[in-house]
Amino acid sequence: MSFLAHPAEDPSSSGPIPGAADGRAHLFNDRTAERYRRSLADGVGLVASTVARTTRPFTGVTPAELAPEISGVDLDRPLGDPAAALDELERVYLKDAVYFHHPRYLAHLNCPVVIPALLGEAVLSAVNSSLDTWDQSAGGTLIERRLIDWTAARLGLGDAADGVFTSGGTQSNLHAMLLARDEACKLVEKETAAAGAPLTKPRILPRLRILASQASHFSIAKAAAVLGLGYEAVIAVPCDQDRRMRTVALARELDRCRREGLVVMAVVATAGTTDFGSIDPVPEIADLCERAGVWLHVDAAYGCGLLVSPRRRHLLDGIERADSVTVDYHKSFFQPVSSSAVLVRDRTTLGHATYHADYLNPARSAERLIPNQVDKSLQTTRRFDALKLWLTLRVMGADAIGELFDEVVDRAAEAWRLLDADPRYEVVTRPQLSTLVFRYTGGPSAARPDPGRPAPGLLDPGLLDRANLHAREALAASGEAVVAGTVVDGAHHLKFTLLNPETSLHDIAHVLDLLAGHAERYLSSSEAAVPEFPRARAS
Ligand SMILES: *Cc1c(COP(=O)(O)O)cnc(C)c1O
Repeated sequence: MSFLAHPAEDPSSSGPIPGAADGRAHLFNDRTAERYRRSLADGVGLVASTVARTTRPFTGVTPAELAPEISGVDLDRPLGDPAAALDELERVYLKDAVYFHHPRYLAHLNCPVVIPALLGEAVLSAVNSSLDTWDQSAGGTLIERRLIDWTAARLGLGDAADGVFTSGGTQSNLHAMLLARDEACKLVEKETAAAGAPLTKPRILPRLRILASQASHFSIAKAAAVLGLGYEAVIAVPCDQDRRMRTVALARELDRCRREGLVVMAVVATAGTTDFGSIDPVPEIADLCERAGVWLHVDAAYGCGLLVSPRRRHLLDGIERADSVTVDYHKSFFQPVSSSAVLVRDRTTLGHATYHADYLNPARSAERLIPNQVDKSLQTTRRFDALKLWLTLRVMGADAIGELFDEVVDRAAEAWRLLDADPRYEVVTRPQLSTLVFRYTGGPSAARPDPGRPAPGLLDPGLLDRANLHAREALAASGEAVVAGTVVDGAHHLKFTLLNPETSLHDIAHVLDLLAGHAERYLSSSEAAVPEFPRARAS
């Protein structure tokens, strides 16, 4: 890409420099500020021109095709020159990357990102504050705290609330489960001591249980494993037809655990399940938790965008009663990865993750009220991700973010109507948020290639499973669109996750036609007749 090259004789250019092997020329400091400016401008220029001419969300490249490009790079022979490195990067990464900004990227919970947040990303990595201690961040610490307070106020958690930014929902859920576990242990220790038969933590852990719906995120189960409870500690509470936790079943499980001498350390309500976007009935769940004296965690990794929605904030009613909440700004606040937070109603509970290290955050600094965020975090060195949200709020404001999220939720409702009326597909639930889970069933179709074959609706479920799997893979291989897949009640389904307001109903209709075309061609091919035949990738 020749537009990247600067005249080599320009001493401030990012082209080859005398003594490129001299690492000091690459250190970012007062003397290299101009080099920094040009180097970043080149990188930004390359990304901007790549995005400007991207016509598909993906090229369909396979790992086998791309691997030689990467392994062919000799990491022990530097190019010395950022322009050359960017040329190479275009070939090994940018050309075939998966682009979430594209309106036909419909797969996972990845959002297009807003420009003020990208500005924040550039600033935070250059200054490189670390948010563990005040003496490594100063104002960064206060900005993060303001955003935690702002989020807690939006949640309605009350004056004693607090929290901390994390790397993602998985980390936030783990953190919340750690606090819930240690609160539960503290309570049981106290109760059993008062009863004259004190139990210590190692004896309590095997009795702990977490109740979460069948549709909850797998990171809850992973957290239980990490916390020494084992995957078995998570009890899956059944869902209703709309994939929301059945509170009758929750009440029954709470009772059963009590009768069996088990300790429910947390109930996890999901506000926006990953597969269905369904929101558990948080007010009823909060009632049950209150009555049972159980910690309520609300996993709003996906649904947190509702906090700023001008039209749908009520869908989060009841969240103000949670003991802890997970929010992923990198899902529904249009923030780049990573940006997430865990919040708690009672800031003292964060103390379960406090450890005073002499070299870093000695107890005396806490006594002097020096704001060291590491006192609340599971991480030590930590990015100043909060800056992205800060600049987003300062430039665009919360309503603008909420309106973008409202738009994708509107679009999902329109897409549901489209799917519901389409005889080629069956759709599982009417979305509360922006996901659609559906399945090609091959109902009446004008485009059926072979009228002599049985109608696909009458075909065996295994064959339809394979047709759905094939349609998804073939579509990704074509690069025309990227959609997700999931298994519902044992059957392979297709899934759209809408997070891009630029995705039109027309895009969605077009992708449905493409998917149906792939599925129909599969059903009329010889491959379909041989169940276990290894499928070749569509090229
Ligand atoms: C995505 C998601 C998570 C995990 O968040 P990461 O940021 O991917 O770690 C947890 N819970 C729910 C409901 C999610 O949708």
